[in-house]
Amino acid sequence: MEPTETTTVKVGELEFPPRKVWMKTYGCQMNYHDSERIMSHLSGLNFTKTEEKSDADLVIFNTCAVRDLANQKFYSHLGEMKKLKANADINPETGLKKNVIVAAGGCIAQTEGKELIGKYKQLDFAFGTDVVDNIGEMVYRAYAGEKKFAVTSWDRSDNYSIETKITHGSPMAFVNIIKGCDKFCSYCIVPFTRGREKSRRLEEVVKDVRRLVEISGVQEVMLLGQNVNSYGKDNGESLGQLIMELEAIQGLERLRYTTSHPYDVTDDLVEAHRNSKKLANHLHLPVQSGSNTVLQRMLREYTAEHYLDLIGKMRAANPQMTISSDIIAGFPNETEEEHEATLRLLDQAQFDFIYSYAFSARKGTKAARMNDVLSDDIRGRRLREIQDRQLKIQESIRQGMIGKTFRILVEEKGLSKGVTKWTGRTSCYRLVHFEPESLEQDYQWHWVDVEITSATALSTQGKVLRDLGKRP
Ligand code: SF4
Repeated sequence: MEPTETTTVKVGELEFPPRKVWMKTYGCQMNYHDSERIMSHLSGLNFTKTEEKSDADLVIFNTCAVRDLANQKFYSHLGEMKKLKANADINPETGLKKNVIVAAGGCIAQTEGKELIGKYKQLDFAFGTDVVDNIGEMVYRAYAGEKKFAVTSWDRSDNYSIETKITHGSPMAFVNIIKGCDKFCSYCIVPFTRGREKSRRLEEVVKDVRRLVEISGVQEVMLLGQNVNSYGKDNGESLGQLIMELEAIQGLERLRYTTSHPYDVTDDLVEAHRNSKKLANHLHLPVQSGSNTVLQRMLREYTAEHYLDLIGKMRAANPQMTISSDIIAGFPNETEEEHEATLRLLDQAQFDFIYSYAFSARKGTKAARMNDVLSDDIRGRRLREIQDRQLKIQESIRQGMIGKTFRILVEEKGLSKGVTKWTGRTSCYRLVHFEPESLEQDYQWHWVDVEITSATALSTQGKVLRDLGKRP
């Protein structure tokens, strides 16, 4: 039965009246996808989402251990929970204070769940990345009165089998195809927080996507994994093969995948980019550095030459393709020469955009144990040089879009300097903003052809040529 505002749902020995959950997600798309799964499980326990922390009966933090900022934000938000619990409303029926339950999941909880529980009084339970689908059971335990527990076990089964859960009603869906990572790059905590690689079977993913398209009206799918290029290795299957199978699903318009490791890009994936009509004209392929010696210290298993050759092959397979990347500035003991090599690689690669960060050590990784001599000032300066160089490249690439027509899927409406604008993404993953033809016009989830009228390094404006409605 679908819960309503007033119905109480009985689960096992407990009654679940309508309650509110407030959830904060940090970090990558895998985490956002996990949060969506969590929400879908919680709706079975009569929870609905609230945007107001103070309204919540249950607060969940889905944490990230990769980014320093996300890390800091989580601890500061968790600190605020002390006050929120203390100031919770009095229930007029019982005369008791509302029992707000606070939980932490995700990558920090996976590695430090037990410590968090011991250290933070306001935290009721912690759960790791491999038990997201058991959230209902954990919430049940908390409401049954169990105090202070952490569930951080790994799924030991050989196969990885899930069904994608969506709650948002949009035509875009994330679909997990592989979890974990076997790469152990020297700076990365993910193999410790997400475990070893495990792929879903190709047949199951195809069935899952077909169901999303035919029943839930999904049109664009992002295939997700920490290293999607390793997909299917254990089962004699591959990402290229999966893409070509998904290609045949009628009603599926666009396919994307992320994140990729250059070492695992296979020829059949390059061929999929040549032959697929649905695969987006965009590839996010993290390079991290342009210096072979830094790449060696990062344990990335490829050289800058191999990387450039690979993106050359991709562009030859699909000349429309744009490529984006990740760069780490100031890896431990990076020399000026090594940094210069990264700047040169930016010129050669002509990325459409990059995510760039100053190196910050993650506890428990090899890079954190390196005897590093670089100062924060040097890192900051190198990061600025990387970003400045990239912005120039981006500006000239974006200028080349002016006068050209792109098909976008419109995602949202907003106000920019008092002017109403809609925003959508091209197949090549560029955001385009445009003014509606009339203020009443609703473009949400429409496919629209736009002509680019102006562009800067960071934003692109267009005008509507054709509104194709909700199906292209
Ligand atoms: S491939 Fe990606 S997720 Fe895996 S260890 Fe390297 S950086 Fe981390």
